[in-house]
Amino acid sequence: MTKQEILNTIELRQSTLKTWLSCPLMYKYRHIDKLEPAFRYPGTVHGSALHLVLSWLHSGEWKGDLRALYTKALNYYLYASDEEHIPVRWKRDMAKEIEALKANGVEILENYRSKEYNKDAVVLFSEVQFRVKILGYLFTGTIDQVRKNVDGTISLIDFKSSKMRPNQYAIPNDLQLTLYSYALKFGELLVDNMWIRPNLLVSRAGIYFLRAHEVYKRKVPGKEIGDEKGDPFIMTSKSLQDLRAFRHEIRAQLSAMVKPWYYPNTASCSFCTYAMHCVSRNDKVPEKDAEQAHELLNELEMAE
Ligand code: SF4
Repeated sequence: MTKQEILNTIELRQSTLKTWLSCPLMYKYRHIDKLEPAFRYPGTVHGSALHLVLSWLHSGEWKGDLRALYTKALNYYLYASDEEHIPVRWKRDMAKEIEALKANGVEILENYRSKEYNKDAVVLFSEVQFRVKILGYLFTGTIDQVRKNVDGTISLIDFKSSKMRPNQYAIPNDLQLTLYSYALKFGELLVDNMWIRPNLLVSRAGIYFLRAHEVYKRKVPGKEIGDEKGDPFIMTSKSLQDLRAFRHEIRAQLSAMVKPWYYPNTASCSFCTYAMHCVSRNDKVPEKDAEQAHELLNELEMAE
C-alpha cells in the first residue's frame, strides 16, 4: 500500500493513535486491514458501561438508581451496540461474572457520586465528539469530560477503569490527552448537532482513575475495611507551548503510521484481542498467497 492509500484507508481517530502506540501490528490489523478483534474482554465492556452511566449522571440522572442505570448501560454494550456480535470472553460462569461487574460498577459509581468535587463540578462537555486539523490532517474522537471545578479552574478528564492504576509519570507525555487538549484549543466540538469552537485552554488535563473508588474488602497496612483505594485524579497541565510542540510529535507519529511496515510490540501480546490473526501470520509467505490459503481454509471451515 502507498502512503496515500494508507491515509485513505485509516481514520485518524484517537483510538487509531492509541492502537498504533500500543502495537503497530495491531494497528495494521485493526485500522488498515479492518479486521475485527476475536473477542472482547469483560473489563472493556465494563469500562464502556461505566463511561455511559457517568455521562447520564451528569445529564439529569444524578440521583438515579445506579444499579438500574449500570444494568441498562451494560446490556447496551453486551447486546445492542455495534460490537454486540463480537463474543465476550468470560472467564467463568457468565451470570456470576455479570453480577460481579454490576456490584463493582455500583461500588465505583456510588463513591464517585458521594464526592463533593464531582457533585459540585459543572460539566461543560461530556462524551463529546471533536474534530481538529493538524498539519492538514483531520483528527477526530471523543472527549470523556470537561468540567468547571468549584475553584473556577477547568479540567479535561479521561476516565480509566483498567485494573492497574496508570503510571503518573507517563501522564505528561500521554499523546491522547494532548490531542484532546489541542482539540479544545484549536478544534471543534459537536454540541447539539452543531460544530462549535470552544477555544479553551484547560487548567489541568488528566486521568480520572475510577477504580480508586473501589473499597478494601480486607484490612491492609494503613487502610481499614471499607476505605477507598486512593485519589482518582492523575493530572498534568498543557501550556500553549506544549500544544504547539505536539504538532511536531504528531507529524513524526503520522509519518511512521503511513509507512507500509509494522513492528510487533510484544509487550502488549498477553492482552491482545488480535493474537489469533498474529499467530496465523507468516511474514515469509507473500500476502496474496496467505490470503488464498485463508480463503481455502475458510471454505473448508478450518480457518480460525
Ligand atoms: S499479538 Fe502482540 S504483536 Fe501481535 S498484534 Fe497483538 S500485541 Fe501486536
